[in-house]
This record gives sequence, C-alpha cells and structure tokens, in this order.
Amino acid sequence: MRGTGKTAATFGRLLGITAVSLLPLWGCDADREPDARDSAGDRAFAEAATDTTRIAGAGKEPDQWLTHGGTYHEQRFSRLDQINEGNVSRLGLAWYFDFDTHRGQESTPLMVDGTLYVTSAWSKVFALDAATGSELWRFDPEVPGAAGINACCDVVNRGAAFYDGKVFVGTIDGRLIALDAETGEPIWSTLTVDPEKPYTITGAPRVAKGRVFIGNGGAEYGVRGYVSAYDADSGALSWRFYTTPGDPQLPPDGAASDQVLTDIAAATWHGRAYLDYGGGGGTVWDAIVYDPELDQLYIGTGNGSPWNRVIRSEGRGDNLFLSSVLALDPDSGEYLWHYQETPGDTWDYTAAQQMVLATLKLEGVDRQVLLHAPKNGFFYVIDRQTGRPISAEKFVPANWAERIDMDTGRPVETPGARFETAPFLSTVGGAGAHNWQPMSFSPLTGLVYIPAQQIAFLYSRDEKFVYRPGEWNLGVNLTQDPLPTGEAERQAIRDGLQGRLIAWDPVRQREAWRVEHGAPWNGGTLATAGNLVFQGLADRTFRAYRADDGAERWSFETQNAIITGPIAYAIGEDQYIAVAAGNGGGLPLTLPSFDGPQPAPNGRLLVFKLDGRTRLPPFEPTVRPAVAVAGSWSDSDLDQGFQLFGRHCAACHGIELLSAGVLPDLRTSPALATADQWGAIVLKGVLKGRGMIGFADRLSAEQTEQLRGYVASQAIRPVAPEPGT
Ligand code: CA
Repeated sequence: MRGTGKTAATFGRLLGITAVSLLPLWGCDADREPDARDSAGDRAFAEAATDTTRIAGAGKEPDQWLTHGGTYHEQRFSRLDQINEGNVSRLGLAWYFDFDTHRGQESTPLMVDGTLYVTSAWSKVFALDAATGSELWRFDPEVPGAAGINACCDVVNRGAAFYDGKVFVGTIDGRLIALDAETGEPIWSTLTVDPEKPYTITGAPRVAKGRVFIGNGGAEYGVRGYVSAYDADSGALSWRFYTTPGDPQLPPDGAASDQVLTDIAAATWHGRAYLDYGGGGGTVWDAIVYDPELDQLYIGTGNGSPWNRVIRSEGRGDNLFLSSVLALDPDSGEYLWHYQETPGDTWDYTAAQQMVLATLKLEGVDRQVLLHAPKNGFFYVIDRQTGRPISAEKFVPANWAERIDMDTGRPVETPGARFETAPFLSTVGGAGAHNWQPMSFSPLTGLVYIPAQQIAFLYSRDEKFVYRPGEWNLGVNLTQDPLPTGEAERQAIRDGLQGRLIAWDPVRQREAWRVEHGAPWNGGTLATAGNLVFQGLADRTFRAYRADDGAERWSFETQNAIITGPIAYAIGEDQYIAVAAGNGGGLPLTLPSFDGPQPAPNGRLLVFKLDGRTRLPPFEPTVRPAVAVAGSWSDSDLDQGFQLFGRHCAACHGIELLSAGVLPDLRTSPALATADQWGAIVLKGVLKGRGMIGFADRLSAEQTEQLRGYVASQAIRPVAPEPGT
C-alpha cells in the first residue's frame, strides 16, 4: 500500500479546482373571485376550476401554490404577510415529513385546496395534508435503479404540476405520468425519450391550455435537446421542438422545429461531430414558462454536447439553439423568437435556469420583461415581445467576457477564454454563477433574490478525448493537475468556493445588498409581502432576511442542507412556509466536503408557522470507519486506479473520494475487503437496484482491482469530520 504523500497529491480535478483557483390574459376569466374556496377539498370544484384560467389567476389566491413558480409568472413571491419582519422570530416548526432517502431533495411543493404535492428523489410523489402533514397517498414510479447512471447530477426531481384534478410528474427514466390527484392512481403514462439514449427528466412539468410541457437532460453524456407538449387528458403527443439541428443526411424530424432549424440553426453548426457524439446538447432541463399575457411559452436550453466547441463544431459557429431563451407558440410549438445568451458555448453555460416574468417601469415605460440569471454570470432583462435584451450586467465576477454589447446582444469575450491553445481559469465554472436553485422577485421591493455562487474552474481541452457512449463526454480535461496537499493551500481553495444571496435591482442593473454564505450550493429563495426573503443554506439552516435590506431576522437548524426553494400557503387562519431539506444535486456529489462525510438524516419536508412547537428528533451522526484492506498494489496500479476513478466514479462518489454523504463513502464499503465482493458490485452490478450499475462493459477485472487499490489507499485519510467542523 502506498503512503499518503503520493496519494494525497493525486487529487482529481473534476471541477477544475486548482491552487490557482483561489481565486394576455388570454384566459379571459382571470379576475374570477376565488369564492369557491369554501368548498376546498371538494373534488368537483377542483376538477372544474383548476385549469389554465385558475392558474392564470393564481396571484388572486395567495393561500394556494398552484404551479411550480407560484404563478405563471414564476416570481416565487407570496402575497401572504401574516408572517412578517416583525414576528418572524416566532416562526417554528409546525410539522415535518420524512422522505425515504438520502438523495437530493430539489422539489418545489404545490399546495392545492389543502393538499401538498411534493416530489422526491427517484421521481416519487407524496400527497400530504397541508395543515397536519399526514400522508394521503404516495406514488412510486419504480424507476429502475440502473437509470440513475444517466443522471449527471443525482436522481433528483424538482416538482410536479397540477391541472384538472391530475398531478403530473416526469421520471428519471424519461416517462411523463398523470396521477389522479385524489388517489395517486396513474391515469396515463407516456415515454418521452428514446430509452436507448442517456436522457433523464429531473425538471418539473408545466401545464397551460390543456397541454403538459416537459423537457429532459443528458447533455453531459451526449443527447439532442427538445421540449414536448402532451395533451393533459390523454397523454397524446401534441408537438415537439428540437433545439439543435438533426442529421442533414436524414429526413426532417416532422417536428415543430423543422423549419426554423433549417432556416436559422443549421448554418451555425460545422462538421458532423455533434451528430456523431449524441446530437449536440441544448437540453431543456429546467425552465419552461408560460406567459399568460402574450400567450407564449419560454424555454431555456442547456450546454453543448460535448462541452468543448473545438471538438463539437470545428471550433466555430454559434450552434443555435444552445444556451438560449426561446419563445414558442404553446399551441403548435412553432418558433417565435430566440435570444442566445452564450453563443458557441464551450463552458457548460446553460441558459436552462429558471425565468421570472415581470412588468418593469424602464425609462418611464412599462415593459413586459423576462428576468434571467443563467450560469454565465450575467443578469439579463429581456423584452418578452421581441426577445431582444434590454440590459445585461454581471451579477458576479465573470472573466470569460468583458460585457454584453447591447447593439448586437453578444458577449465581448475575453481573449483566450475558449481555452483553445492554453488553459483558462474562469471565475465562473460549469456549476454556474446561478444554477437551478430558483430565484424570486418581489414586486414590493423591486428586487430579485438570487442564490448566487462563485466556483472557479480551470478549463483545458481534453487532448485524449474519445467519445464513449453512455458516459460523460465533455472534451474538457477533468483529471490533470493534482490539488495541493498543504492545509493552508486547501483552506485557500475552500475560501475560493463562495455562496451568496444577492438582492439585485433589475431596473438599475446593480446589486442592492448581499449576504455572504461562505459555502456555495445554497437553496432557492422565496420573497413574501411580509418584507421577508426565505432561503435554506448548505450549512443546514433555514433563514429569513428582511427583503429591503438583507438584515437576518430568523434562522432554524435543519440537520440537513437545503438546496431547493421554499413556498408559502395558508390554511384557515394560519400561514405556512414549506421547504424540502436534503443535500444532493450535482455539486455535492462531485465536490463534497474537504472535511470528510457530513452525516445527515434522510431528506424531509419541513413546514413552519408562527408559534410552531414541533421539534426535530435528535440526530446522532454515525460515521462508519474506513475498511482496513489487506493487499498490495504497485504505484502504477494505484495511478491507474486514480485515473479510472476520475473517469468512472468521481462524478457520483466525489473527487478523491471526499464523499459528502449523499452517496456512500466507498472507503467505508465492506465490499472493499475482498476482490470478489468488490467485483460483484463494480463489475456484475449486484447493487444496480440502488443505482450502482455494473461496469463490466467498461472495466476489466484488472482495472477493477486497480480501482479497489486506489480506494483502499485513500482509506488512510480520516473518514470522520474533524472536531469542531
Ligand atoms: Ca450541463
């Protein structure tokens, strides 16, 4: 067995962290008074009224949370003010609900007529009494564990949609399922993807005008992005829009996107690599927003497949419609306009991030705008009628571009930022200056509350890139440049990872105030009429800040990191704040704690009200010791093991095995003790039901042993958190 000196130096770089990185109301009835609320819980009412019209008027029912972002405008602003800056110190836990898993909790719940609908990892759906938390039903789509390997960023689910007495959920293995909202029984299910390709669904469906809209993910692996619309009653496909051009040697798709891909997009792609490597990317994995004023559907598209444009498109071309906001006709899927935020993306700068629709007074004129803070670090105010950007400014330091040229709408890129001839240390990496964690907007303060972060990334081309179907295909080097071993240097790297709550003034395009959180990967935000902003943090607290100046007014110890956004609702006399707690998602799997695993209870839904007196059960962390392994491996075997771990394992089990505890710390696996048990899992896939597929098609028996040697050699480092951390 090799000593710690060498092994500690061979630090993977999945996130590229190095020592240097310290661095119209068409629904005409929207004014309908919600008088039928007296019959809350009455099924006839729910079926008759919970349609586009009711959702379009959701702002008039502040005690409900009818759609993913609260209303079609997705401002995540609650008009409820019973809980306010003056009394929030009395906020306490009303009830909690335990999920059945450690995996990430990214769901935004819905609250409809007294029932909460919340999704969880593995695409499960729970219906709970919103006042008491008692379980009404649960639905498990029984996603095959092996489908988990296709999820770049954990087997998460960001929420359900409600419409006409049905609850809709997308599953990790690509199904869209309609459930009876009262019983949880499936009504219809349709497969939205080619199961032979590494597509997944983690995003929340949206519903408008009798159609359910759903996208998918998979651009790290190599897929072609699209969004689909299904009839809410029958599940029949209504239309589909592809975001990248298909193979010109094949017939057109017969999709709504055919014409615009031919007319506009095809000429912006070069060569055939993007076709050979899976389809170019541009997946619609999160934001899908219906605009009830203009009767348009907006989608945000993701990064290119592979990331590196040099490999994907001969190093040239805008590659439409990657990293773009598109407006589509919700009835036909026809193209209306687009704005590409990152032309020719080569950095994983997705534009899939959540969008807020608002009306802002700009230079004395009311403008219907779309507010967007995508990964690339710029905050965009976009005219919803034309798709033209009105303004764009950096909300965090972003050194890949100097500014956005407002004449052309294009970034003025920094020379060298495309790392074509030399590596480029970007202050904004693929984890994004703002990822999927939803932001909120208060019409009272006029501020947008962004869960922002700074995670530097050293981009360099993968000179040895080989396309491997079913695996990550980035074209960006992830395994060179070991990290330093010194504690001071590691501390400097910790300091380079920052999370922050930014209150952003979209009219003046500047920060109004900020709260520094220290660590990145904090939760989404909720703004309320009580002059409050709620946010859960990576540090296992749930906090309330004054919305106008950022002063902290309340916090609660949650035992679990919170990564998703909260909601507000009311039942009877009481206002509630609900948020799902549970660490996970892309970052905690790949870049976990330097301080070892952070044990946490299973994920939970936490629900608060004034004078709530419920307590969480005490949590006593237990840390399994590392397994002592008898065996010896040569230095070359261990180096091979390190390389193999970086390619096949680190995306889920952590860089240099620094597992955060979302997935097992492999150093504590009893299977590590013998080659037979290890091989049964790694090669034969005996744990595939839990998501750990067998790698027999990718690894030889010898390589599997090299992996075991590497993991065993790392067991020398302490597994338990250090005291006081
Ligand atoms: Ca991506």
